[in-house]
Amino acid sequence: MEKIYDVVIIGGGPGGYTSALYCARAGLSTMVLEKLSAGGQMALTSQIDNYPGFEEGIDGFSLAEKMEQGAERFGAETELAEVLSVDFSNDIKIVESSEGTFKAKTVIIATGAVPRELGVPGEKELVGRGVGYCATCDGMFYRNKTVMVVGGGNTAAADAMTLSRICEKVILVHRRDSLRATKVYHKQLEETENIEFYWNTTVSEFLYEKKLTGAKLHNVKTGEDTEISVDGAFISIGRKPASELFEGILDMDEAGYIVADESTRTNIPGVFAIGDVRTKALRQVVTAVADGATASHYIEEYLAHQI
Ligand code: NAP
Repeated sequence: MEKIYDVVIIGGGPGGYTSALYCARAGLSTMVLEKLSAGGQMALTSQIDNYPGFEEGIDGFSLAEKMEQGAERFGAETELAEVLSVDFSNDIKIVESSEGTFKAKTVIIATGAVPRELGVPGEKELVGRGVGYCATCDGMFYRNKTVMVVGGGNTAAADAMTLSRICEKVILVHRRDSLRATKVYHKQLEETENIEFYWNTTVSEFLYEKKLTGAKLHNVKTGEDTEISVDGAFISIGRKPASELFEGILDMDEAGYIVADESTRTNIPGVFAIGDVRTKALRQVVTAVADGATASHYIEEYLAHQI
């Protein structure tokens, strides 16, 4: 007979492995399904300074490994598998994956969010050859070079500041005439000599030979088109939730985040959403791990009532 897990967790980021730790430690049979390796987006972050307990900070990959090992110490299992579809219509939930079918009494969705793309010509072709989505990860490749940052939120502002310390010049391209980023960044950016601003400007195309050489820009106010030369481009325009698998099954907001309050319960009993894929105000490692602990609490409560 196929095993029925108490809980299957889809996604092995910080939220996923925290819920795995709490569930396994509470004696629940727990399976984590992870596509690639532990950590999700966190594993791509070279230095994490705002997760408490590491006075010198820690790189995301190491923190992910520690989280996985901490959960496995209590018996949580991990299967490297891509989830292909889910069926939440019965009490026993079914998760179809590249490695077979998993059955569970409860499911935690911890699939996170991925960087948003601009969707302009050249972008896809140049990923890893000049176009990137993580300045903290790849900024060092552009030491003393010219880079552009696209976006006007906190990520773009933080990326521009980071890159200004590494690169010769940073060109910040934003589609409006003011930043969405918090005020604390505005003065810092304006006072940084090697940051140049292109306001009311969108990217129409990335230019390349073997790798990125520049970009075609369009001023949405004047209609003027220009070309700039850059060695690197960082797209910092926010992220989109990895929730496509659950469209039409779970309630989502207009941006595709799975609707769940602080209890992490979704509209389907026994299905929980945690971390960056859930509707919430602050998407950070600490808030994802908090969700993981909370989900395990409500899972125990749910399972107690099922018996
Ligand atoms: P965000 O706040 O959603 O900002 C996205 C930016 O990209 C906006 O300026 C937006 O322009 C622009 N944009 C979106 N789609 C675009 C497109 N297709 N073409 C051109 N520009 C586009 O995203 P975020 O900056 O990644 O931040 C996400 C969350 O993390 C926020 O809650 C943020 O506060 C938080 N965060 C905080 C920090 C910190 O230091 N405290 C650092 C990073 C992130 P418009 O302004 O015109 O909409």
